[in-house]
Amino acid sequence: MSSSDCIFCKIVSGRVPCNKIYEDEQVLAFLDVRPVSDGHTLVVPKAHFEKLHQCPQEVLSSISSCLGKIVQAVVAAAGAAGYNVLCNNGRAAGQLVDHVHFHIIPRNEGDNVFTHWPAYEYESGRADAIAEKICARL
Ligand code: 5GP
Ligand code: ZN
Repeated sequence: MSSSDCIFCKIVSGRVPCNKIYEDEQVLAFLDVRPVSDGHTLVVPKAHFEKLHQCPQEVLSSISSCLGKIVQAVVAAAGAAGYNVLCNNGRAAGQLVDHVHFHIIPRNEGDNVFTHWPAYEYESGRADAIAEKICARL
């Protein structure tokens, strides 16, 4: 499955160049063209799916089976002290390319890549109610 106007499908098919990091039958990894840190890498399924929850189990399995290996190489090459693995889904969550992808972002202390994590605390009873609501939909 591919989408003719999808930039990541074009990269997968070789119509748009990339700095390739890893490839197997189902998965391609390449450097992000506008990194937030050196070595910032994108891992994508070769098949076109917009969001994570729309991917069949075998697609998610193929990504998870190579993700750790790719992370290890990216982080070692960057000489980073840590990393984030991110998957933005939907415009509200910052997804700009509608072909599911995992960002691997090498991190170092004080790098200012993400400076704000807007954590708060649940009011009494709210966590139980939310957990129940989620579980009912599984
Ligand atoms: P999103 O915001 O959808 O999670 O992230 C999409 C990412 O794709 C961005 O970080 C952006 O820099 C990257 N990107 C967009 N177009 C291209 C491209 O043509 N080549 C590469 N290598 N990365 C791209
Ligand atoms: Zn695509």
